[in-house]
Amino acid sequence: MSSHHTSRMLILGSGPAGLSAAIYGARAGLSPIIIEGMQPGGQLTITTDVENYPGFRSAIQGPWLMEQMRAQAAHAGARLMAGHIERVDLSRRPFRLFGDDGEIYEGDTLVIATGAQARWLGIPSESALQGRGVSACATCDGFFYRGKKVVVIGGGNTAVEEALYLTNHSPDVTLIHRRDSLRAEKILQERLFAHPRVKVLWNTAVDRFVADSTSNTLIGIDTVDTLTGMRGHLATDGAFVAIGHTPATTLFQDMLPLDEGYLVVEKGTTRTAVPGVFAAGDVTDKIYRQAITAAGMGCMAALDAERFLAMAEFSRTAS
Ligand code: FAD
Ligand code: NAP
Repeated sequence: MSSHHTSRMLILGSGPAGLSAAIYGARAGLSPIIIEGMQPGGQLTITTDVENYPGFRSAIQGPWLMEQMRAQAAHAGARLMAGHIERVDLSRRPFRLFGDDGEIYEGDTLVIATGAQARWLGIPSESALQGRGVSACATCDGFFYRGKKVVVIGGGNTAVEEALYLTNHSPDVTLIHRRDSLRAEKILQERLFAHPRVKVLWNTAVDRFVADSTSNTLIGIDTVDTLTGMRGHLATDGAFVAIGHTPATTLFQDMLPLDEGYLVVEKGTTRTAVPGVFAAGDVTDKIYRQAITAAGMGCMAALDAERFLAMAEFSRTAS
């Protein structure tokens, strides 16, 4: 039998953005409900070392960090609920979220923190080698390739920025792109082409990641020339797939304005086009996509929601 859950603040998603919103919302006395989704703790639960989240001198483990955030949110008074939302109704307040298990959630405000997922190539060995040489985040994992050879796959801003970032660690960075021109901004391209530690492999697709049979870590890639079909091989220690991100916004497609799939918020706030609905973290951020920026936006969303509720209360009592 389905149950009905109500709160002044609903939070959809339990990554750094959702959990930070929950901590602030709970401390403001709003007893938020956080619906955790298929990935409680979000993207950081699928990584190992996190070395850039402030407050820790040594590397911490992503799953551990997210468990701490979940415990902090629960301790502050947030209600963490397992559930995956398959439909939303934002046409009137309270907003309503419908779980795939029949649960219904109602909230005077809603913080959307559903994140974004990196796109993958979908080729053999890719998922088995994630964290073992194959990554989708140079800022997160580049440090582990100090002095080693790496490749970046993609031709957009992200790929070029990742390649340039990797030159801080690696003496030998190869950008691999399936066409003969990049999609990235000119200024980034100029920086890339001028960099002495970067090579570009044009008209090339990666069709297999190759692992060492003993250590099961990446040792190379098999390639194919997209014009001639000629096959090749490149030895490498790390491969960074940078072919775009897909924000988790399908639920909101016909309800809220999107920009390249990302939820649009009013500049400098987390307010969406629907009053009382806020967005935070990777779901609204196509540029930074870091745990700390997601957490910061989660805090902003809770404060924005708290102010919204206070204003609504004020208008009600004044009229
Ligand atoms: P996410 O962490 O993506 O969380 C989204 C949440 O929404 C999840 O809980 C999910 O279950 C939930 N959700 C989605 N759809 C639904 C639904 N329909 N119903 C209910 N719930 C739903 N950043 C760093 O700063 N440092 C790092 O070292 C680092 N390493 C990374 C390593 C990897 C492998 C990856 C993939 C990313 C890494 N990042 C790192 C990036 C960082 O993880 C993200 O920027 C951050 O997690 C974004 O937080 P978020 O809360 O916006 O979304
Ligand atoms: P993107 O612009 O969509 O570029 C994706 C790249 O990956 C393209 O070059 C594409 O090739 C390639 N690609 C896609 N699927 C592929 C596949 N299956 N195999 C091989 N290559 C594939 O994505 P992005 O670079 O992540 O950028 C996303 C958005 O964020 C953009 O609007 C970008 O401007 C923005 N962004 C901005 C900044 C910044 O302002 N500094 C930084 C990062 C991102 P084709 O070119 O052939 O299609």
